[in-house]
Amino acid sequence: MNKAVDFFSGELEKIVRNMIDTMYGSPGIGLAAPQIGINIQLATIDLSVGEDAKQLIVICNPEIISTDGEQNCDEGCLSIPDFSDTVSRPLKMTVRGLNIKGDEIEFEAEGLLARCFSHEIDHLNGVLFIDRLSPLKRTLIRNKIKKLAKAGDW
Ligand SMILES: [Zn+2]
Repeated sequence: MNKAVDFFSGELEKIVRNMIDTMYGSPGIGLAAPQIGINIQLATIDLSVGEDAKQLIVICNPEIISTDGEQNCDEGCLSIPDFSDTVSRPLKMTVRGLNIKGDEIEFEAEGLLARCFSHEIDHLNGVLFIDRLSPLKRTLIRNKIKKLAKAGDW
């Protein structure tokens, strides 16, 4: 289980900087700390992938307060390169957490941002997007990954 963030110091800033660099370098619109091997409840999101500084979100210990509606879109993950599939997510959600200084922050997310919050919070709970697919699809993707891994291509 990923630990709640309980330190708001230079160490946290260093981790966040590393995550943002990894997210922009990939490039991706979201990253969860466990994806870089740090098992704490921390996520970064930037739908603009570094184009617009105002869109960067850094959230510690995020909690989904409420959700509304449903959206079904194609989704991928930096931890499962080259695979994507349709995943059902809430259309809207309210997310509460702490910023890098430890102050409470809250977001009303909709559309892609809601999808991204849902995806990153899943990571913090040890859930990958393929875990949200039907068992058949999940097996198909796992088998493809196994074959690629055997061939040394993954
Ligand atoms: Zn992911």
